[in-house]
Amino acid sequence: MPELEQVLQEKLNSLKENNLLRTINNSDRSQGVYIERNGKKLISFCCNDYFGLAQNEYVIEAAISAAWQYGAGAGASRLITGNHPLYGILEKKLATIKNTEDCCIFGSGYLANIGIIPALVGKGDLIIADRLVHSCVYSGVKLSGAEYKRYAHNDLENLSNVLQKNRNKYSNCLIITETIFSMDGDKADINAISKIAKEFDCWLMTDDAHGFGMIESESKADIQMGTLSKGLGSYGGYVCASKIIIDYIKTSAKSLMYSTALPPSVIGAAIASLELIEENPDICKQPLEKARIFADIVGLKKPESAIVPLIIGGEDEVLKVFAQLEGEGFLVAAIRPPTVPKDTARLRFTFSVLHKDEDVRRLAEIVRGNFSPLSEGEEITD
Ligand SMILES: *Cc1c(COP(=O)(O)O)cnc(C)c1O
Repeated sequence: MPELEQVLQEKLNSLKENNLLRTINNSDRSQGVYIERNGKKLISFCCNDYFGLAQNEYVIEAAISAAWQYGAGAGASRLITGNHPLYGILEKKLATIKNTEDCCIFGSGYLANIGIIPALVGKGDLIIADRLVHSCVYSGVKLSGAEYKRYAHNDLENLSNVLQKNRNKYSNCLIITETIFSMDGDKADINAISKIAKEFDCWLMTDDAHGFGMIESESKADIQMGTLSKGLGSYGGYVCASKIIIDYIKTSAKSLMYSTALPPSVIGAAIASLELIEENPDICKQPLEKARIFADIVGLKKPESAIVPLIIGGEDEVLKVFAQLEGEGFLVAAIRPPTVPKDTARLRFTFSVLHKDEDVRRLAEIVRGNFSPLSEGEEITD
């Protein structure tokens, strides 16, 4: 039998040859949208901290005072002794914002998805999800043991067809979509999907990781999950739903029951972020405005969120463009398979309230001058 290191070294070599190797780099993100990497100061267009809250003084102060009051760590799972009083305050706020009866906070969005889905459906049930949903939704689906089918991205006719063909073979059925798609930045039509869910007697779950604050909060879905780790600038996941659904999740989602509660500072920060958004709803509008300035100059279609993809195709091309932009002082995300489907490697630009318009324009001019995206409407097939 070969040594484990030998097996893995070969896999690493092959990933590297195919431009699919991932590495983790030091990123000193201590000054707004500026990142220091390898001694170089870059303007980041790849953080999910859309509203600049992660480094907001009020938010940081709230984290510090929560730590002084309740300690650095929670000490146990929420079901044992980890449920410090800040949880209740944040859950109440989130339920109010989402217009649901109740809410439950998880350790992260990832932990929420891998906990909620198996709690709701299992063997003999059907899950049908948009084919572009996040990797952790797939993990939740696998853990659930339910039968899994996907529908073409945002293609509701396809969703109806898949349901027409399959719905009656299963007892319960859960439809899952993102509100704003994480790698494409486009929006799902939740109203229309919710109608289809009713028509075929399905439950609907939405993942609002990138939609929070960005788009109007909808309450059409039975289960609305999201994260505190992106727009809210903190960490953690949540699910909002009716009291009975939440009661059941609390007593059955393993990633909640068997994982330590979040540190008080993290919840304190998220509460402060929500307060700031409530007081200044305008900060939530600006990332989208900046995305639109960028897309307009580059000649891309009008963005629906603060995420703008520039689909390039091949992995090597994307890495080349990434390096070129880094040379110009910009840090962007080079997204490659399997995060996105094959042949759709892309640059992913995210916009923050903290970006200066002049920097957005300069980046856009450079992108427009150098790179042409795949033409609009080009179909990517599996
Ligand atoms: C980031 C993300 C998650 C995971 O949330 P974390 O809090 O970062 O674990 C889940 N779903 C989507 C769509 C995401 O983009």
